[in-house]
Amino acid sequence: MIQEAVKRYLQRTKQDSLSPKAVLFDMDGVLYNSMRFHARSWYETAMKHQLQAVLEDFYMFEGRTGESTINELYRRTFQRDATDEEKKEIYEEKAMLFNKYNDGQAMNGASEVLAAAKASGMQTLVVTGSGQHSLINKLEHTYPGCFSCEKMVTAFDVKYGKPHPEPYLMGLEKAGVKANEAFVVENAPMGVEAGAAAGIFTIAVNTGPLPDNVLLDAGADLLYPDIASLAKDWDHILRAIG
Ligand code: MG
Repeated sequence: MIQEAVKRYLQRTKQDSLSPKAVLFDMDGVLYNSMRFHARSWYETAMKHQLQAVLEDFYMFEGRTGESTINELYRRTFQRDATDEEKKEIYEEKAMLFNKYNDGQAMNGASEVLAAAKASGMQTLVVTGSGQHSLINKLEHTYPGCFSCEKMVTAFDVKYGKPHPEPYLMGLEKAGVKANEAFVVENAPMGVEAGAAAGIFTIAVNTGPLPDNVLLDAGADLLYPDIASLAKDWDHILRAIG
C-alpha cells in the first residue's frame, strides 16, 4: 500500500525519488486535539451573528485564515464580503470563545511521531493557519525541543493561506529542503490540498468527523484514522520508501 502510494506520488509530481529530511506538521487536529473547540467557537459566533453555517462547515474550512472563513460566511449569507470591522469583531469573538473552551490537550500519538521523526534524523516544523500569539511557548510546553520560532509558519507569515500551497512552500524554504525531501502531516481537506499542491508527500490523519474520501479527494497520499496509528506505522513507511 505504501509502495503504491509512493509510486503514485512520484508519477504525480514527476520526481525520481522521495527522501524525506523534514516533516511539516499542521497543528490543530494533528498536534492538538483542538478542532472540536475551534468548530464550536466558530459555530456559536456565526449563530450569534445570524450567519448561515452548520458545525461541519468549520471542519471543511479548517486551515484557511480566519478572514477568509468570515468572508465565506458573509458571501453565503449576505452575498458580499465582510467589512474590516466585521472581520475584526467576529474573529475576536471566536478567539475569545476558543480560549475559553480550549483545554490544550495534546493529540494522542503526536509525541511518538515527533520522536520517531527525530530519531530518523528528520527536522520537525509546524505549518499552521493559526494566528495565536505565543504559539511557540505553547508548543515548547507540550513538545519540548521539537520546534523553533525560526522554523515555523503561522497566519502571520502568509498572504494566501491554505489551500494555497504557499504555507507549505514557506515551510520547505525554512527547512532548506525540496518538495521531495519532506512529508506533510495534515488532518484538514484544505491542508491536504495545500500540501499536495506544494508537491509534498502528504499524510492525512482523519481525526475529525468528515468522511475519509474528503481527505483522499483532496490529494492525500496516505490516510490514517489518527496520529497514534501513524506513529505505529512510521518505521514501516520509512522502510517502504527505502
Ligand atoms: Mg488541522
